[in-house]
Amino acid sequence: MLDGKIAIVTGSTSGIGLGIARVLAGKGASVVLNDHTHSDESRAIAADLAKETGADVRYIGADMSKGEACARLVEEAEAAFGRVDILVNNAGIQHVEKIEDFPTGKWDAILAINLSSAFHTTRAAMAGMKARGHGRIVNIASAHGLTASPYKSAYVAAKHGVVGLSKVVALEAAEARVDVTCNAVCPGYVWTPLVEAQLADQMRANDMTKDEVIDKVMLTRTPTREFATVEQIGETTAFLCSDAAVQITGTTISVDGGWTAL
Ligand code: NAD
Repeated sequence: MLDGKIAIVTGSTSGIGLGIARVLAGKGASVVLNDHTHSDESRAIAADLAKETGADVRYIGADMSKGEACARLVEEAEAAFGRVDILVNNAGIQHVEKIEDFPTGKWDAILAINLSSAFHTTRAAMAGMKARGHGRIVNIASAHGLTASPYKSAYVAAKHGVVGLSKVVALEAAEARVDVTCNAVCPGYVWTPLVEAQLADQMRANDMTKDEVIDKVMLTRTPTREFATVEQIGETTAFLCSDAAVQITGTTISVDGGWTAL
């Protein structure tokens, strides 16, 4: 389905990013894995995914909190593979605190990694996509790109920004009359290693069973009372990257178990 395509997934050595990379590689794309660590461990994750899928998977370290590093990631991927067809802006961090105590450095970091990085990578990739007349940009936003929760000022602001940015990029590509689309995927709660670790902490802290924590603490705003999986986010992303999705642009797809229907 994605044979011969070249994809970058930012923040992709764990969680949702790695899940998306695995699905894209499994469908025949060559994939650039990224995080900010420049570590042997991250290089090994890329090597393992290459072995598992048979795809060309390479690691490029770049700190998505820095504009120049975002641009360099795209340039290095273009130099290594000749072009970039698919850009998935996934890197993201979180901090939860009431606004009067919210550390200003955390605000800056969340805005930089969760929002500005998508601007910088898209800015760097767009000229090539327009010149070739084809490209797919998928921004991993959140249910918090469409709705809010208390104590998540920076995250909610950044994710709403990602949704807005996705619309502008889509309109600019459409005006250029090229097959370049840009959309935002909005997951609710996704089952990742980080969430799994939180679950154990919550069971201890609340003296609850696993099912009680899931039902009464974590998924209270998820009508289905089920987590989405990284595979489901990967498959949604892959669909948006397919030829069938050519007329889907400038919009959001929620994968949130009904959260935003409430
Ligand atoms: P995660 O912490 O498991 O993975 C984040 C990845 O980003 C890691 O590979 C990490 O090394 C990398 N990263 C962190 N800082 C970076 C930086 N400065 N530069 C480059 N890479 C960096 O997170 P996740 O839960 O998989 O979340 C991925 C994305 O999905 C985020 O944008 C997050 O906001 C979004 N999201 C997650 C959930 C959820 O329930 N997990 C729900 C909605 C949206």
